[in-house]
Amino acid sequence: MVWKYQAAIMTLGMTALGAHAITTNYTSTVDPTKLNIPNIEQTTSHDVVAQCKYYQPPFTLDKAAWPNSWEIATSNGMNTSAEYTALYNSIDWTKAPANVKQKTKGPDGALNLQGYDTANDPDCWWSASQCTKPKAQGVNADIVNCLEPNTWGLTYDDGPNCSHNAFYDFLEQNNQKASMFYIGSNVIAWPYGAMRGLKDGHHLAGHTWSHQLMTTLSNQEVLAELYYTAKAIKYVTGVTPLYWRPAQGDLDDRVRWIASQLNMTAILWNLDTDDWAANTMPGVTPETVQQNYKNFIQMGSNGTFNTVGNIVLSHEINNMTMDFAMQNYPEIKKNYKHIVDVATCMNFTNSIYIEKSITYPTFDQLVNQNASTATGSGVSPGASGSSMGTQTTVNGALFIAALFGVVASLF
Ligand SMILES: [Zn+2]
Repeated sequence: MVWKYQAAIMTLGMTALGAHAITTNYTSTVDPTKLNIPNIEQTTSHDVVAQCKYYQPPFTLDKAAWPNSWEIATSNGMNTSAEYTALYNSIDWTKAPANVKQKTKGPDGALNLQGYDTANDPDCWWSASQCTKPKAQGVNADIVNCLEPNTWGLTYDDGPNCSHNAFYDFLEQNNQKASMFYIGSNVIAWPYGAMRGLKDGHHLAGHTWSHQLMTTLSNQEVLAELYYTAKAIKYVTGVTPLYWRPAQGDLDDRVRWIASQLNMTAILWNLDTDDWAANTMPGVTPETVQQNYKNFIQMGSNGTFNTVGNIVLSHEINNMTMDFAMQNYPEIKKNYKHIVDVATCMNFTNSIYIEKSITYPTFDQLVNQNASTATGSGVSPGASGSSMGTQTTVNGALFIAALFGVVASLF
């Protein structure tokens, strides 16, 4: 099944934004309703070494058609390829927010906010003031919390990866769906992980190709990071995500506008566990993260979310972050009425992907379904138990890549 897609005819939303035909070329031979994951040790074992052994993916990858793994998505000549050039030229860049400039990084790799009017935050730059309501025209606003009261919006970033069978088994055993924000390079490297995510009923969304700070990239680079991640998810799973999350929440109205050209909307969060930072960032220990979880869990019973729910940022990344999630799950369940993926709590149903063949339940449907099949919490701890040791590298893409430990070399 190979097909092309013209974004302009896709939704009324695009028409309302005054968008025109965007030339994309998302292809796949995979039927998302009939995913086939073989019983090999990489997909069944709980042994890290066995899971992380390279496997031949169920497709042939034309290396010349993809960016380099974990490099900015214009790499490997993508920015001059016919496909990308057609995409870039199909966007009317004269409509982009004129005053929002590309941001810079300091020598330490961190965002440089010097000289920026943080108080007024004219660019609606999340990293400056956690702004999520765009100030520019024609830009999709971010989603930051589930609208359903007493609801924990469950999200995991930075997958798919090897060594996550126990975690996905745990979610499956608990009939628990989550929003999974996948990194494009990882999707290509660990395709069965991404396929399992979809097959298990999780909500798949993009998390950029190489996990850069998006506001520091050029227009070309931002577009390529978004496009090739969506393309990778489509190629491997058969669905093309309409939602995405920027690394470290770093987006402004320029980045939002570019995402909006692909009809993509950002999903951020309003509670951050900081799970990835334990033993890595100064002052953040596993106890800090456990305390964060504890505080957020208490909010479920102290009335904080009586009128709206939350979205909580957590990570797949490694055994430590997955352990935090599994250990705290029973208490979250006790203190919140509902734990759901973002697609479900926002009632996206069939507007999660470009393909309409995949539909998610409405919030009411899910709640009623769970009520009729309720068997108690049924929580069982997954097989895990290792810890990460200490990591002391710089924050950013390479750091995150290092955290994964093993990166398959398909490229
Ligand atoms: Zn991330």
